[in-house]
Amino acid sequence: MFEDLRKVVTRAADRFKRRFYGSTFRCPVCHLVLAAIDADGNGLLVCPVCGAVLEIEQVYGHIVPVVLDMEIFRPQPKARLHPVSTHLPIGLFPFALLGAAVLFLVSLLPAGEGDLALTGYVGGAPVLADATLVLLVLSVGFSALTFASGYRDWRVRYRGRPYRQITLKIVCSAIFLAVGAIAIALHASGLVFATGSGLMQLGSPLGLAAALAYLGALGTNMIVLATLGHVGGTLVFGR
Ligand SMILES: [Zn+2]
Repeated sequence: MFEDLRKVVTRAADRFKRRFYGSTFRCPVCHLVLAAIDADGNGLLVCPVCGAVLEIEQVYGHIVPVVLDMEIFRPQPKARLHPVSTHLPIGLFPFALLGAAVLFLVSLLPAGEGDLALTGYVGGAPVLADATLVLLVLSVGFSALTFASGYRDWRVRYRGRPYRQITLKIVCSAIFLAVGAIAIALHASGLVFATGSGLMQLGSPLGLAAALAYLGALGTNMIVLATLGHVGGTLVFGR
């Protein structure tokens, strides 16, 4: 079953990549997937991972990359702030999502039931709601630092050259920040959570709509974050 699920996810990811990257080929040195569209006017492209200077030729419709040179004098950041800081949002966000999911399930419980085990969970809801908000603010806040350090690395280390991977990462980062800000605003507004009980107000139509928008925003951001991490990983480890 997991194998089937993996196939479905891989197929969806491949389709998305084809649409975003256009025709691709592998770097002959480090095997990183590169987009042909990133080549400059002379048909040259520098691999962001290994620094191979590639000439892109089309032979009978196939892309043939030829290694012309290796770029050895590329500025390497001494303190690698981006790959370090990226672990803060990636590490914290899933717990914010988990907190929200638990709060949603607890809010679904019928009110006033005498079950002691369940009452314990409901009593902890205000603390869990506050902890979820703190995690959310920290992960989205640190992602701004991650975005800024990654952008700087692109300008300095990759000399601002166009790479589809980096364009995708910039787009995803902007989405993560915007959707994260919406989720924080919804959480803090009091529309989703009742002030006293810390439970989602699923009974009222406005509360239900706000809760679904909140959970939808968190779910969307989890997918965006996974994409950011995956693409970032290819730029660190190659393929
Ligand atoms: Zn390479």
